[in-house]
Amino acid sequence: MSDNQKARDQALELDEELRDIPQEVRNVLHPVRMTQKEHFQFRCHPGIDCFNACCRNIEIILTPYDLIRIRRRLNLDAESFLYQYATPFTLTKGQLPVPLIRMDPQTGQCPFNTPQGCSIYSDRPVACRYYPIGMALMHKQQTNNDDEFYFLIKEEFCHGHRETKDWTIQEWRTDQGSDGYDIQNHGWMEFILKRRSAGDAVATALQLSEFFYMASTNPEAFRRFVFDSSFLKRFEVDPETERLIREDDQAMTEFAFSWLKSVLFGDDEVKVKPSAFTNLKERKSGKTPPP
Ligand code: SF4
Ligand code: SF4
Repeated sequence: MSDNQKARDQALELDEELRDIPQEVRNVLHPVRMTQKEHFQFRCHPGIDCFNACCRNIEIILTPYDLIRIRRRLNLDAESFLYQYATPFTLTKGQLPVPLIRMDPQTGQCPFNTPQGCSIYSDRPVACRYYPIGMALMHKQQTNNDDEFYFLIKEEFCHGHRETKDWTIQEWRTDQGSDGYDIQNHGWMEFILKRRSAGDAVATALQLSEFFYMASTNPEAFRRFVFDSSFLKRFEVDPETERLIREDDQAMTEFAFSWLKSVLFGDDEVKVKPSAFTNLKERKSGKTPPP
């Protein structure tokens, strides 16, 4: 290992998470953990000579709130959007599937990129809002807390780093709207972290990948699962939540992750109805037939 690499690894304190980052990716990270108060210099604008250079050959994960915003803008249902614009990808740790934007196989270009810039700019994904900042999140099992930090991504082609406009990370997040997206995606992020840190300790009869992907990408399908099955007979859902999840995709998504966390990790957010336990006991003893 070169001295440079040693210094880089030490600076990153190489947590388990960061050790998994491939070398070629680590080479573009400014090897310092940053807090929200720390500063960097950057400016991106249509007149810059690298304009649009960052919108090709990249892996952009679409979060649930990204999908809600972009689908609303394009007026597409979940299946049509995913078919046209996304490709599934499995996160290494936790084995959870997430959708990536499908880049053009010939040019490597993002389908939303135009010579004038991003065609969905005001609804662009949170990963594009963060750039050139990366965010890392870790769940600490000992304390049951989430640890969050940031790092700078410096790529040769991006000349925004030559500009002198100064930001703290918090200012950048607010300016780009990333902070609001993080709030909306909280349940999704928390589920991924818990799943990663639980590893194989969590045994489940649930078809986890399918439920997770449905909750992440398709609130219409999750709504059908809740309202067209025996779900409401088995789980407590108060009338106000029921009204909200019928009408609102974001409310449906948040509820879906609360339910998944309750079923998988024993969180107390969505409770099983006492009558469901009684029915189950009776079915097991043969007193009542299955529904
Ligand atoms: S400055 Fe960086 S982020 Fe902005 S267009 Fe150029 S490559 Fe993309
Ligand atoms: S969504 Fe917009 S900002 Fe993000 S990569 Fe595509 S064109 Fe660029």
